[in-house]
Order: sequence, then structure tokens, then C-alpha cells
Amino acid sequence: MRYILFGPPGAGKGTQAKRLVAAHGVPQISTGDILRAAVAAGTEMGVAAERHMSKGQLVPDDVVIGIIRDRLQDADCKEGFILDGFPRTIAQAEALSAMLTELSLAIDHVVSLVVDDELLFNRLTRRRTVEATGEIVHLDNLPADAESTGMWNGQKLLHRSDDQADAIRTRLEKFHAQTSPLIAYYRERGLLRDVDGVGSVDDVQTRIEAVIG
Ligand code: AMP
Repeated sequence: MRYILFGPPGAGKGTQAKRLVAAHGVPQISTGDILRAAVAAGTEMGVAAERHMSKGQLVPDDVVIGIIRDRLQDADCKEGFILDGFPRTIAQAEALSAMLTELSLAIDHVVSLVVDDELLFNRLTRRRTVEATGEIVHLDNLPADAESTGMWNGQKLLHRSDDQADAIRTRLEKFHAQTSPLIAYYRERGLLRDVDGVGSVDDVQTRIEAVIG
């Protein structure tokens, strides 16, 4: 199984990718996670990428295409993979298509999570990451003091710098301008599966499983 989880920031791609990993045993490949790890490690790529990421802008195509080219060579991708947050431009989609053709592989489904901007904005401003585990949580689902203390169950909560209001606005604008053309691109190729991304994590997962069979 080779899937792309597609959607605007905050649509639930990462959360659903983790569910699909658990259910189907294929790796999640998140360019966002790989870039954040490079930023944390202070690599040359990380330092360069951070300048774009902190403002909510896309990292240049050649950087993310290089990341994916390397990652797809890994042994754990042989039986399939879930791409989360890649491709985000037509150039990235074309590069992916060329890479897969070279490997005699193809994408089975592009699952497009559909959520409107107002809800995305709310989800992203109130999204936190549990520092120790990487778990993504939402303040609305935590005790009232989690927001002011930045702590939950004795664990530190992190607020991503690109989940601040200005960066979120830029990310949503970039999605509509640079990434949403991929909807038509994959629809024309018969790969796009629209899934309503509003509802509980379980409900959205059920809808995804229904469209990917
Ligand atoms: P994400 O965790 O997928 O929301 O990605 C966080 C940030 O990483 C994005 O706002 C971009 O700055 C960068 N990024 C992740 N994936 C890509 C990609 N495919 N193309 C360009 N930039 C990306």
C-alpha cells in the first residue's frame, strides 16, 4: 500500500497517518517531522529550513524532494508507505512520480482530508505536542490549566512556533496558493479520495479505511 495523506495544515494528516501505521504496518514518512528533527539536530539543512518553517513558508522543493528520494530507498519502504505532508507543490508531485516510475512503483490512493479554514485555525492555535512522547493533543481536550501552565500529567506541552497565529495564516495561504492545485492534479489521475476530516479521530479513520478498502 502506497498512500499520500493530503490536506491543509491541521487537517489531521499526522494523527491519521499514525493510525494507518498501526493498522497496516507500513511506515509514515512525514517531511515536517524529518525537517523538525533536522532543525533540532542543528544540521545545515535544518538551519536553512528553519528560516522558512518558522514563518509558515514552504521549504524549497529541492530540499524536500531530496529528503523523500533518500527515505524511499530505506528497506522499510519496500512493502509500502504513507506520505504525510509530501507532496505540497506540483513540482514535488512530478518529482515523486518520476522517482516511483524509476522504482516501478505507483501510488494507490491520495486521501484528501477536507476541513474548512476556520476550524483549521482553531485546531492549530490550540494544538500542543507532548514533549516527551511527541503525542499531538488539543487544549480543548485537556484540563483548563493545561494552557496557562504548559503542563499536562506532569509532562511539558510544546507549542510549535509555526502554530502561532501569523504563521498559521501564512500556512493556510500557502496551502491554497501552492498546494491545493494538487487536488485537480490527482483527481485527473483518478487517485483522489475526498474524506470529510471533521469529527472524532476514530470517525475520520473509519471514513479513510472505507475509501482505501
Ligand atoms: P507539517 O508538519 O507537515 O505541517 O510541516 C511543517 C513545515 O515544514 C511546513 O509548514 C513547511 O515549512 C515544511 N514542510 C513540510 N513538508 C514540506 C513539503 N513537502 N514542502 C515544503 N515544505 C514542507
